[in-house]
Amino acid sequence: MEKKITIAIDGFSSTGKSTVAKRLAKELGYIYVDTGAMYRAVTLYMMRKVFVSKGNFDKEAIIRHLPFVSLKFEFNDDLGHGEIYLNEENVEKEIRYMEVSEQVSKVSAIPEVRKKLVEQQQEMGKNKGVVMDGRDIGTVVFPDAELKIFMTASTETRAQRRYDELKERGDEVEFDDVLKNVKDRDFMDSTRDDSPLIMADDAIEFDNSKLGLEEQFDKILKIAKDKITEVNS
Ligand code: C5P
Repeated sequence: MEKKITIAIDGFSSTGKSTVAKRLAKELGYIYVDTGAMYRAVTLYMMRKVFVSKGNFDKEAIIRHLPFVSLKFEFNDDLGHGEIYLNEENVEKEIRYMEVSEQVSKVSAIPEVRKKLVEQQQEMGKNKGVVMDGRDIGTVVFPDAELKIFMTASTETRAQRRYDELKERGDEVEFDDVLKNVKDRDFMDSTRDDSPLIMADDAIEFDNSKLGLEEQFDKILKIAKDKITEVNS
């Protein structure tokens, strides 16, 4: 039987990690895990409790309430990938709102939050055959992953993609706010003390600023297939 590998896809916000990762998992018959959705779901829970809002950030309360947060992914046959559930509620749509994007990097900088989610991510990927996207997958969650891809694209390209995505969903957003959010999250994610966003030494850097979706996917699929062949030879 073919040995399965672990594929870590890290990178800045809105680099298209999840689009590629989802498709790659489907093509290879692997499990896809969107770790950003997990940090977003914890943030949503804490926002509903009003421990975090525009003018408020109660770190102690967030840590105290972490045990009440239960997360899981459930496979949606129609979509062909998993959707996130927060305490049995499907929050896939709500976690993508700008309000959550504005708070998530603060919540995800808390070491206790990271510890809880990293443990769960390691459990989900323990049998390999997983494509996991996030910020610290190749450095912290699976430092031994056979394939690590670090996605990059210019800030403007990323903000434009995110803006188009939100608009298409019918969200009322301004381009400048989206651009600011992308920049703010990049800064917070790469300067936090615990597991900052950095490229693993053995990751392949993949700049997709000038690549269309198909071209990008074909290249990454080839890299993944070559790696699987190498591992099995
Ligand atoms: O991937 P996405 O943009 O949905 O992630 C939302 C936020 O969650 C990131 O900006 C980052 O603050 C946090 N995150 C993280 N570690 C991960 C995945 C996401 O800190 N592995």
